[in-house]
Amino acid sequence: MSAQSVEELFALDVLIDDEERAIVDTVREFGARRLRPLVAGWFEDGALPVRDLALELGELGLFGMHLDGYGCAGTSATAYGLACLELEAVDSGLRSFVSVQGSLSMFAIRAFGSDEQRDEWLPRMAKGEAIGCFGLTEPDFGSNPAGMRTTAKRDGDDWILNGAKMWITNGSVADVAVVWARTDLGEGSRGIRGFVVPTDTPGFRGIEIKHKMSLRASVTAELVLEDVRLPASAMLPEVEGLKGPLSCLNEARFGIVFGAVGAARDCLEAAIDYAGDREVFDKALAGYQITQVKLADMALEVGKAQLLALHLGRRKDAGGLRPEQISLGKLNNVREAIAIARECRTILGANGITLEYPVIRHANNLESVLTYEGTSEMDQLMIGKALTGKDAFR
Ligand SMILES: Cc1cc2nc3c(=O)[nH]c(=O)nc-3n(C[C@H](O)[C@H](O)[C@H](O)COP(=O)(O)OP(=O)(O)OC[C@H]3O[C@@H](n4cnc5c(N)ncnc54)[C@H](O)[C@@H]3O)c2cc1C
Repeated sequence: MSAQSVEELFALDVLIDDEERAIVDTVREFGARRLRPLVAGWFEDGALPVRDLALELGELGLFGMHLDGYGCAGTSATAYGLACLELEAVDSGLRSFVSVQGSLSMFAIRAFGSDEQRDEWLPRMAKGEAIGCFGLTEPDFGSNPAGMRTTAKRDGDDWILNGAKMWITNGSVADVAVVWARTDLGEGSRGIRGFVVPTDTPGFRGIEIKHKMSLRASVTAELVLEDVRLPASAMLPEVEGLKGPLSCLNEARFGIVFGAVGAARDCLEAAIDYAGDREVFDKALAGYQITQVKLADMALEVGKAQLLALHLGRRKDAGGLRPEQISLGKLNNVREAIAIARECRTILGANGITLEYPVIRHANNLESVLTYEGTSEMDQLMIGKALTGKDAFR
């Protein structure tokens, strides 16, 4: 009997249209040809050829893919999610690149920027000629960005920014940073505003964070802002308060709902291949019941996770997706993906710990995915609040 993929087992194909299938095929082919042969090396070296990849990902139309105008592809949100899935099947770091560029920095400028800001940055960012980053997290404030200490103070018409941002993807290689800062301490979180900061502005520094054991095929940096002087026009005019950055995070978390399925699927495929070839006690590991129970349980979770992602994608395309529903998707799909990566690692035995196979790389990457854009505990609190009506964040 011929072996089926999880997609075939669940008949997932009937849930996506021809345009979405074409996007999936394109990204999968690009991943197989251009990314897969090199990604373990990028991970091992902790070095990603960001500029070259940006142009190639831009040419594929993956940056700001579901945004309208300004050179963006204007696809459905579901199509964007499926592209994230295929990219993260290669490596979470590559999906992170696309998420941060499109869903965080470009989305912020598209949704909340002035016409001038959009004209200046979005067409170049869509092509990958300009790289963006998104500075919200600070050394002392991650899950609770309302506490941020970065300030923007007026000096005549100008703004002067001071502070530090931490764990910023692409922060040391970006051309432009969307930075969130407190404009007036008296206004509490209402005074938080976004600023579009060209990274060559005097006083701005991006310092790469080394020694990560996760997302090594992704650049992560600390941003230091020392008396960064910006014109009045640098502020994002259309949003005030935390709802600005939080709505960007919802966009990026949506991509993770799909992306995590890709990482899980890739681990499962590697484990199935391995178990088919590896002989233990005189026959293929895949022929043992214990292995098949593991594979069946994992296939079930990958398929369910993809069904959930597709459901949430359709809800988003219909305009009805709520933040707590994105939390359901991120919590489930990342948590299951990590469990699957670990289980697949057991099937690969000692080989499972090397970069010759993708499994340990995915497992390590998923630790970051569980934490960023809102930790799994934040997702649980969002869901808990939706169920009880009670806010347990404090
Ligand atoms: C590789 C990587 C890339 C990143 N890229 C970016 C980026 O581009 N831009 C950006 O702005 N940020 C980025 N981040 C930061 C990320 O979003 C934060 O790490 C995340 O929000 C968590 O913040 P923290 O690390 O400060 O953890 P904390 O907020 O200090 O949380 C520590 C632990 O406490 C738990 N906790 C917090 N509050 C509560 C509570 N009320 N009740 C119970 N438990 C609680 C958390 O869930 C967590 O388990 C990145 C992080 C990583 C690892």
